[in-house]
Amino acid sequence: MFETTVKFIQETYQTKAFLPLHEPVFFGNEKKYLNECIDSTFVSSVGKFVDQFEQMVAEYTGAKYAIATVNGTAALHIALKLVGTDEKSEVITQPLTFIATCNAISYCHAKPVFVDVDKDTMGLSPKSLKSFLETESIQKDGLCYNKTTGKKITAIVPMHTFGHPCKIDEIAAICNEYNIALVEDAAESLGSYYKGQHAGTFGKLAAFSFNGNKTITTGGGGMIITDDEALAKYAKHLTTTSKVPHPYEYTHDEIGYNYRLPNLNAALGCAQMEILDTILSNKRALASQYIDFFSKNNMSFVHELPNTKANYWLNAIILKDKKERDVFLKETNDRGVMTRPIWALMNKLDMFKECQSTDLSNALWLEERVVNIPSGVRL
Ligand SMILES: *Cc1c(COP(=O)(O)O)cnc(C)c1O
Repeated sequence: MFETTVKFIQETYQTKAFLPLHEPVFFGNEKKYLNECIDSTFVSSVGKFVDQFEQMVAEYTGAKYAIATVNGTAALHIALKLVGTDEKSEVITQPLTFIATCNAISYCHAKPVFVDVDKDTMGLSPKSLKSFLETESIQKDGLCYNKTTGKKITAIVPMHTFGHPCKIDEIAAICNEYNIALVEDAAESLGSYYKGQHAGTFGKLAAFSFNGNKTITTGGGGMIITDDEALAKYAKHLTTTSKVPHPYEYTHDEIGYNYRLPNLNAALGCAQMEILDTILSNKRALASQYIDFFSKNNMSFVHELPNTKANYWLNAIILKDKKERDVFLKETNDRGVMTRPIWALMNKLDMFKECQSTDLSNALWLEERVVNIPSGVRL
């Protein structure tokens, strides 16, 4: 049934060998910087590459400050902590996301509340968010509380699914109106823009990920970005075990985290940042071939929306129904073309099934139909 699709993808990548979903590529100064880093002996959490990597990401995204972390989940954890998320809090997010979003909320001992996504962006729906807040929240002393549970809603965490920006300006406006901090899960969206502005720069804080399967990688790694100097300083403090700066004395003023990105990983990150634009244009060329092919074959490919520029991290198609999706998954994987269904919804997982949620029909619709197809850079 999907013979032509399999053939097209194999031809696009010029291979009949197994095709993974997304492989990292290292065609820049990766080995050079790694060697330099090893020779310097500064392989751990202090070194010039960490500072340089932070500067490069800040400059690239247009954020004032960037703080490197051991992974994207840690970046999200700290970002949520910085806006006051604790055991007396709730955080509104989308059910259609990678588990890290909800894990980070849980590390703060808070509960997620799920609102629906939009079908076109696959990201948090401003309409669903607004209707939830209108009926379910109240304002007290300039803060937002859940009417039913009495808990404070400290943050809203939208996610830019597969690098396609959600309607982030509308979400930011709602956050302002309701006095809730906007923390963007921008893990998948380095190189993505909404109305010309980089994803992750619309709220108080945002988190990126540099895991091995992301657009660029540091092996494992993450980054917090913010325009707020005080938050940036506090983020650095918390991620470096809350050590009070001193030439030789070890004093820590609160419980901190060993979350600082090692210099060795940052060396890889600096080299990857240098080739990011080449990676992005390569991925854009692939997406454009996919757009041509799938439109000719009457299949629905997820393309960038007006007002957005996507990084096309993971390409996705939308099958007609679950049955067709399952046939597609089997046929492609059987032939060595790796494809994968979108995540199971967070509200269905044991850990989060008791959490409050709105009507989630769009998320449920997408869950049954969306499949990722090979998206790696072709060298
Ligand atoms: C990758 C990812 C993260 C962070 O993952 P790490 O593996 O911890 O770097 C967070 N949220 C989303 C949506 C992601 O895709």
